[in-house]
Amino acid sequence: MARGTVVVDVNRCKGCELCTTVCPQHVLVMADSYNTRGYRPALLADPEGKCTGCTLCAVICPDAVLTVYRLPAIAKAMRAPATMAQAA
Ligand code: SF4
Ligand code: SF4
Repeated sequence: MARGTVVVDVNRCKGCELCTTVCPQHVLVMADSYNTRGYRPALLADPEGKCTGCTLCAVICPDAVLTVYRLPAIAKAMRAPATMAQAA
């Protein structure tokens, strides 16, 4: 499965929570703290790396606060030889 990550432009977020409702992996949450505009911003809470980089959150965000990065396939390919070496 594809892997991804999301960068939140925290101080531009208006805390509408739309992004949290569409994430199929449920890895977007609202922060407990407030940004400079007085809103609780969205945050990526993804310690297990479940984000797939699907971009649904970025598409629905009305203020283009979220930037999604797909982790390159080459990173996966580079991990494969190490796994094989460990198995040998
Ligand atoms: S890119 Fe997809 S999986 Fe990742 S946080 Fe956004 S909606 Fe969730
Ligand atoms: S949809 Fe955009 S503005 Fe709304 S909470 Fe998410 S990041 Fe913030």
